[in-house]
Amino acid sequence: MQFIDLQAQYKSIESKILKRINGVLNHGQYIMGPEVSELESELSEYVGVKHSIGCANGTDALSIALKALNIGEGDEVISTPFTFFATGETIAMAGAKLVFADIDPNTYNINAELIEEKITAKTKAIIPVSLYGQMSDMDKIMEIAKKHNLYVIEDAAQSFGAEIQGRKSCSIADISTTSFFPAKPLGCYGDGGAIFTNNDDLAKSIAEIRNHGQSKRYTHTSLGYNSRLDTLQAAILLEKLSVFPKEVELRQTVAMRYEEHFKGKIKTTRIKEGYKSVFAQYTIEVENRDSFIEKMKQDGIPTAVHYPVPIHHQPIFQKLGYGKIDMPLADIASQKVVSLPMHPYMENADQDKVIKAVLKNI
Ligand SMILES: *Cc1c(COP(=O)(O)O)cnc(C)c1O
Repeated sequence: MQFIDLQAQYKSIESKILKRINGVLNHGQYIMGPEVSELESELSEYVGVKHSIGCANGTDALSIALKALNIGEGDEVISTPFTFFATGETIAMAGAKLVFADIDPNTYNINAELIEEKITAKTKAIIPVSLYGQMSDMDKIMEIAKKHNLYVIEDAAQSFGAEIQGRKSCSIADISTTSFFPAKPLGCYGDGGAIFTNNDDLAKSIAEIRNHGQSKRYTHTSLGYNSRLDTLQAAILLEKLSVFPKEVELRQTVAMRYEEHFKGKIKTTRIKEGYKSVFAQYTIEVENRDSFIEKMKQDGIPTAVHYPVPIHHQPIFQKLGYGKIDMPLADIASQKVVSLPMHPYMENADQDKVIKAVLKNI
C-alpha cells in the first residue's frame, strides 16, 4: 500500500496527459509557453480570484509574495510554529522577524484569538497556513488585519480546492500561495507553484518578480527571481485540474469513511462547521507514536509525521535566537500527530486494512 498513490490517478488520465506533453514538445516553447497563461486563467476561474500567476514552487511563491509586499528587515510577520519549514524559512530569508502565535489543537491551524496580542508597531503581515488541507479562520484573520492595517498571505500549499462557506482557498487573503509539488492535492510531475491576488498592482509586481523583475524584455524594474512555472508542468496541470473537482469529492468520501470508524475512539483533525478540507493529509493523534508507527509498518501500512519539529525548535531558528519561545500546543501536537494513507483513488479494501490496523495498534 502507498501513502499517496500518484500512479492510480496517472493511469486514469494517461492518454490526455501524454497528448498535452506532446503538444509542448511539438511547439517547443518550454519557458512561458501558451499553456502557462492557459493554466493561469483556468486557476483563476476555479478559485474565483482575479489573478493567478504561476511560479517554480510553493516556497518561491511565499518569497515572491513577501517581496511584492516589501516585507523585510525591521518588519515582523505573525505566523504559526506548526507548519512545513518553508513558511518560516521564507519569512526569515526575507530578513523579517517571525512572531509566532500558537495553534488551535483541534484543527492544528493558527489560533486567530491569539494573533492580536502579538501585533506591534513593526507588524506588517499575518501568514496563516491552511494545514492538512483546511483553511484557518480567514474571516477573523482578515478582520484583525483590516483593523490594524496589515497584509494577509495565505500559505495554501496544502489547501488548494478547500472552502469556507463556498469561498475557495486562495481567494480571500491579499496574496495567497500554493504548491504543485507532486504529493499536494493538485500536484504536477516536478516542482511548481502559483500565487493569487485580487489586486491589479500586486499582480503586476508579482508577475515581474517571478521573472527577474522584468517589466518588458530586458527592462528590469525590480530585483526578482528566476521562478517561472515550466510549460510542461502547466500542460500536465491543465489535465489534472480538469479532474480535480471530482477528486476533491472523492477525498471527502475517503475522509468521511475514516471519520465514521474513528469517531469517539481517536482524536482526528476537527473540520470546522462550514469548512471543506481537501485532506492533503488525514491526521490523527496517538499517545505512543513511535511504537504505533512501528506496528503499522509491520502490518504493511505506511504513515508519516507532519511535522515532528515545530519551526522555533529547528536548529537554524535556535541559532537565529528563537530558542526561548514557548509554544506549548504546537509542541504537544508535534509529538502526537501521525498521518494515514489518503488519496482520492484509495480503495475500500485498502482503507479497511488501515482502519483495522489503527484500531488495533493505538
Ligand atoms: C509544501 C509546502 C510548502 C512549499 O512548497 P514547495 O512547492 O515544496 O516549495 C510551503 N508551505 C507549506 C505549508 C507546504 O506544505
